Amino acid sequence: MNPTEPQLNHFKPMPNGYLIDMDGVIYKGSKLIPGAIELVEQLKRLNHPFLFLTNNSERTAKDLVSKLGHLGLKASWKNFYTAAHCTADFLTRQKPVCSAFVIGEGGLLIALQEAGIAFDSIKPDFVVVGEGRSVSFEVIEKAVRLIANGSCLVATNPDTWCPTENGPRPGTGALAALLESATGKKAYYLGKPNPFMFLTARHRLGLRTLQTIMIGDTMETDIRGAVEIGIQAYLVLTGSTKQEDLVNYAYQPTRVLNSVQDLAMELAGAVEPEPELAKAV
Ligand SMILES: [Mg+2]
Repeated sequence: MNPTEPQLNHFKPMPNGYLIDMDGVIYKGSKLIPGAIELVEQLKRLNHPFLFLTNNSERTAKDLVSKLGHLGLKASWKNFYTAAHCTADFLTRQKPVCSAFVIGEGGLLIALQEAGIAFDSIKPDFVVVGEGRSVSFEVIEKAVRLIANGSCLVATNPDTWCPTENGPRPGTGALAALLESATGKKAYYLGKPNPFMFLTARHRLGLRTLQTIMIGDTMETDIRGAVEIGIQAYLVLTGSTKQEDLVNYAYQPTRVLNSVQDLAMELAGAVEPEPELAKAV
């Protein structure tokens, strides 16, 4: 190109990027929701950046790649941002050199370890609570004493229960409530709807506010957090919310979709971006 030639197309529109909840949006129990594979295919074809955003801190990003892979959906570990990653990002920003006593599973332990957080059961800065099915009363008792001695209580997410194929099971929020009740101290809750999770996920994708779309099935977490931080919020009706429930909320989603299939079909009609636009993402 002639360097004296005016560059009229300097500001090109950037494509949207998506933050996608998993349970009730991509899968339900051990079954993929129709349209999930097609949605991911279209996002890849159109170079729309995306992250799966989950409040579950139990699994690592690589575990989630395997889980979705078994269901037939191919994704990279780079496409996942869990409440465990969010907690690690938060703690290291609050206190770059810190230690934690952790009640949780591999996903949380590895995220904190990768962030350089030391595990300490004597005088940790934080007691961190996440998803887990192997917690013992002995560990809870230890956590109570550490909190009573000055460690700050942090929960990876506020969900008090988690859906499973066999019915609900207690979630992180329920365990945090037990520790709050036993110590009289309040936990700080990360995960959705805490705006910190949406903000760090958006930054990971290098997106601006108006380019970012959250797709979720739960009003209290996915839609509320998205509305509060000012990004677009697409509600899908394949999970915990029915169309008639919307009248009960002061905040509303930007769009309501029957399922991710609607969006996949919409994107299937979109034209692929020019190569230089794709490179800019
Ligand atoms: Mg969900």
